[in-house]
Order: sequence, then C-alpha cells, then structure tokens
Amino acid sequence: MASQHDDNCIFCKIINGDIPCHKIYEDDRVLAFIDIGPISKGHTLIIPKYHAAEIVDVPEEYAAACGMAIPKIAKAVQGATGCPAYNILQNNGQLAGQAVFHVHFHIIPRYSAETGLNYKWIPGQLDETDAVEMKAAIANNLK
Ligand code: AMP
Ligand code: ZN
Repeated sequence: MASQHDDNCIFCKIINGDIPCHKIYEDDRVLAFIDIGPISKGHTLIIPKYHAAEIVDVPEEYAAACGMAIPKIAKAVQGATGCPAYNILQNNGQLAGQAVFHVHFHIIPRYSAETGLNYKWIPGQLDETDAVEMKAAIANNLK
C-alpha cells in the first residue's frame, strides 16, 4: 500500500501519534477526530492516512476509504449530537479557505440557521452554450 508522510504536517503528526487528537475512528487508510476549532458542537474531521494537500492528489484507494468513512462518521455524529442537519466540506487551496494542507473532510453539524457553516450561495443562470462547451472540456479532461 502506497503511503506518503510529511514531517512538517500537523495532520501527519496526528496520524503518527506525535500530536494528540480526540480520535473517533481509525482504519488502515483513514483517521477521524474532533476538530480543535469547532464551528459547531460535534465538528469532526476525516483524513486519509496519506499526505496529500488536495483531493486531486489522493490515491484512489485512500479516496475510496474516505468515501466509505464519511457516511459512517456522519451517521455517528448525527447520532451523538442529534443535529437535524449538517454540512460536509472539503476545502482545496488557500483561496478556498484551506488552512491545513493535508486533505480533510469536515462534518459540521447545524442546529439552527445561526449555527454551523456560514456561506453565501448565489446561484447564477446557466448559459446553454457555456454548458455544452464546459461539459465537453471537463469530460475531455477525465483521466
Ligand atoms: P481547513 O480550513 O479546511 O484547512 O480546516 C482546517 C481545520 O483543521 C480547522 O477546522 C482547524 O480547527 C482544524 N485543526 C487544525 N489543527 C488541528 C488539530 N491539531 N487537531 C484538530 N483539528 C485541527
Ligand atoms: Zn500530512
């Protein structure tokens, strides 16, 4: 199994046990723990045990393991907190709000309109020509 580690990465240090965390779940490829700066009660992180800054750099087997862990952990967070709603967030790049450059998925409970993840969602209007071009461009970039 391929693995990658960065001595200077805080999440790699947590994986290694060099820094403590409030561990929730662990398997060969995934670790889940409580976020140290929770946006809401029960805010949890899921990380691959592979050092990659962004989702595009994660090997398939680790991405698949994260994919399997996310609903499992979300269900546990929901069960523990009784939150009626939650967001799952994964930031890629500083501009997108990423602060720790080791891929992680946030599970952020929402208890009311005022708690949890705060974001503005301003929908545009899809242009038909743009959509056709964009669909082709993205599909052509699938590898
Ligand atoms: P992001 O902005 O998506 O990179 O989020 C990074 C998250 O990592 C933030 O929610 C931090 O509170 C969290 N975080 C940073 N250091 C630790 C740590 N040592 N243990 C748990 N969570 C951490
Ligand atoms: Zn790392």
